[in-house]
Amino acid sequence: MTMINTRSDNAYILLSGGQDSFTSLLWALKHFSKVEAVTIGYGQRHEKELTYAANIAKRFNIPHFIYNIGSFLQSMATSTLLNEGDHNGQHPVAEDLPASFVPNRNGIFLTIAANHAFNKGEKHIHLITGTCQTDYSGYPDCRDNYIRSKAVELSLGLDRPVNIHTPLMWLTKAETFLLASNEGELQALNELTLTCYNGIETLNEWGRGCGQCPACKLREKGYSEFIELQKGT
Ligand code: ZN
Repeated sequence: MTMINTRSDNAYILLSGGQDSFTSLLWALKHFSKVEAVTIGYGQRHEKELTYAANIAKRFNIPHFIYNIGSFLQSMATSTLLNEGDHNGQHPVAEDLPASFVPNRNGIFLTIAANHAFNKGEKHIHLITGTCQTDYSGYPDCRDNYIRSKAVELSLGLDRPVNIHTPLMWLTKAETFLLASNEGELQALNELTLTCYNGIETLNEWGRGCGQCPACKLREKGYSEFIELQKGT
């Protein structure tokens, strides 16, 4: 995990309303004096994610900006997160990738967050995202080398140093639960976040969701491993 010395810096977090961005926010609040949240509406099938993000920002009393890019991504991308289809299947136009993959979603979101920070007059831009390579979702733009390259690209494009902090990059889902638990926020994590690809809000002991889609399966498995981790400590 990257350690930051300059608590006086502002940081901008991409807040989706899901488990990973919630936990990254807990990390951000410890390392930066001021944190703002940026959420992107992109025509996702489950717009209620935006409400979850807003409620999280309210809970932690941080400024929250929602940028709605409307049908921009939908008009050029095929994904079960945008259209109908089986999340457990393969991608309709790229059989080596998951059905839910939205091409360059992270890249576009990080560009928007960087522009937001630039527009606030930041001379050194700190972005935070909950992407993770350990329990790899199969999305190529969640990988560490992509995020590092993106930081270089944004720095060049804005002529400002841009750091992209990824506190969860090398954590397992179980360790992500542990991080939230250590901050005393396990209950809030379960109640205030929605990760389910089907947008099902049923509250389980591992969080909200259908229990059937890839995101729920990963979350449920991570939670049981977290319980085991706790027994061992
Ligand atoms: Zn689900």
